[in-house]
Amino acid sequence: MDNTKNIRKSILNKLTELEDYQVEKHLVISEEIIDIICEITEKTGKEVAIYVDRRGSVISTEIGDENTVSLKSVTKRRGEESLSGIRCVHTHPNGDGRLSDVDFSALKKLKFDMIGAIGVQDGEMKNCQLGFLCPTEEGDMGFAAAGPYTKEKLLKIDILSTIEEIEKNLGTQFDPVIGKKFIAFVNDIPEYIYGDIVD
Ligand SMILES: [Zn+2]
Repeated sequence: MDNTKNIRKSILNKLTELEDYQVEKHLVISEEIIDIICEITEKTGKEVAIYVDRRGSVISTEIGDENTVSLKSVTKRRGEESLSGIRCVHTHPNGDGRLSDVDFSALKKLKFDMIGAIGVQDGEMKNCQLGFLCPTEEGDMGFAAAGPYTKEKLLKIDILSTIEEIEKNLGTQFDPVIGKKFIAFVNDIPEYIYGDIVD
């Protein structure tokens, strides 16, 4: 299905132009990009996704429908045990920045460094939750989710250090201490949940 049908060309151009953007590599995403994807989401009523590599380069963008973006694979495989090297931030037009089961499935399948959902209300970011892969007690791949964060808080998170720490621990046996460390790195915020990913 062509999701770009019936979307004004100026809006699509604005989205494509983001592919030249650079994010300070330690940040999840820049404030400017947050504002632009929230604006596009408000104008179209559709989910918008943006993909950033570890150097902070925006490597791809995508617009979906009212309920989902495809969360495509833009990954270069970096080996079975490692993460993809790509983080994905996408919008939820309904204002709810909590990650969905579909989001966690994409996280697992595509091995994103991190997946973030931004709830958009009245064209502004309302909140954002971040999800990461982590081993479960059974030794499967589960997730840890942090947030929801306000924009101000989100822009203070050093995501690169978190990702590097997670990657170091991915191949290891589950250890509650290491598990907690995963998210402790997200600016020592105590709110996090663990769960199994439903396929
Ligand atoms: Zn989502």
